[in-house]
Amino acid sequence: MTDTAQATNGRRLARLAWGRLWQARWLFVAAVAAALVLHATAGGSTLAVLAIVLALLAVAALSPRRILPERPASLPAQSRSPVSEDLSAESLAAAVADPLIVFDARGVVTLSNSAAASAFGDIQAGISMPLKFRAPEMQDLLESMLSGRFPSKTVEYTERVPIERVLRVTATAVGRGTGLFVMVFKDQSESRRIDRMRADFIANASHELRTPLASIAGFVETLRGPAKNDAAAREQFLQIMQNQTSRMARLIDDLLSLSRLEMKAMTVGGAKVDLGRVIESVVDSLRPLAAESGVVIENRMGEDRIEVPGDRDELFQVFENLVENACKYGQSGGRVVVSAARPDQGEIAVEVRDFGPGIPEEHIPRITERFYRADVENSRSNKGTGLGLSIVKHIVTRHKGRLSITSKMGEGAAFTVHLPVR
Ligand code: ADP
Repeated sequence: MTDTAQATNGRRLARLAWGRLWQARWLFVAAVAAALVLHATAGGSTLAVLAIVLALLAVAALSPRRILPERPASLPAQSRSPVSEDLSAESLAAAVADPLIVFDARGVVTLSNSAAASAFGDIQAGISMPLKFRAPEMQDLLESMLSGRFPSKTVEYTERVPIERVLRVTATAVGRGTGLFVMVFKDQSESRRIDRMRADFIANASHELRTPLASIAGFVETLRGPAKNDAAAREQFLQIMQNQTSRMARLIDDLLSLSRLEMKAMTVGGAKVDLGRVIESVVDSLRPLAAESGVVIENRMGEDRIEVPGDRDELFQVFENLVENACKYGQSGGRVVVSAARPDQGEIAVEVRDFGPGIPEEHIPRITERFYRADVENSRSNKGTGLGLSIVKHIVTRHKGRLSITSKMGEGAAFTVHLPVR
């Protein structure tokens, strides 16, 4: 310890002892009075009285009562809370979850927290801020702060290395005339991604609705003009218009399903659903479609009763979408098999397999995205909306399960729903 530190420590201890003596002043006065009375009435010796007074002084000075630091008179009432003497700039910075850097009037780092180290790597005291943050927006922010023209300023910029991040950075001068500045970084990447997804979703939904609408508008015009008196064309056009309106209705139904799912809580209640019966009713309801497509649905769920906690209607929708897709896209395979593996590690796996052309590998990671199709024309001609698998994924996630997809070109595709059994 340096001489200066020792002296500071000595002064601090003396202050503490004096504070305790001051707090114990009434005890001391009472003790002196008692000693005097003792001396006067019982004739005790002056030395004994002195010894009692000194002993009381020592007890008062060494007693472990908590001493509150003196309140600075200038502080407003709400700021006058007890603050630990150990509260340092380092401990405050460490308690901040976002990256935080303190720098001086030369732009040299004086302090940074661990969040700053994980976000920007080496950022210890002594390094130059303008050299560390080269983005034009950051150069501009540093220049504005160091020029002393702004007490506080916020900019947004994109870091490209090691990964792309959008950061909102606020720099503020610390106190008045300290010559220090604090910079706090907020990562905006996630909220930006959500904003972009929302915008894409609206653009996709509008596009999906606009296409059939434009087609209907075109046919109405033709029917009122050139095809006005052509009975055969009228019949044909009306059929197309009807198909387009059903397409729009399907799309709106799927959009409403998705939005209803998003409005619900992230998890489902704990009611038990008999999966075997759900699959049975899905298969029954899709028999007409299967027959129309020339596909046979084989229900190989077995006799064992399999119960999972969840929502019956939602689970119905999951398997309805999967079996319907298997019949539509795997039509050439001629059959669709629904089977369940024995529950393993608290999980049941139900597989919907077809023997059609399969899904090209590069599309598999994306086909559960909204409006994503491996083959747009094929989807449209099969009355697809591009939302079926995203609804499936949403429901499975709400049931704390997962969806896995495997496919081999020319051999078909298998969609497996893994659900917890309790
Ligand atoms: P859609 O309404 O187009 O059927 P989905 O979200 O249900 O939308 O499916 C997305 C895409 O995944 C489909 O357009 C299709 O390209 C592909 N797909 C889904 N199931 C199968 C399958 N069993 N075999 C081949 N491709 C499939």
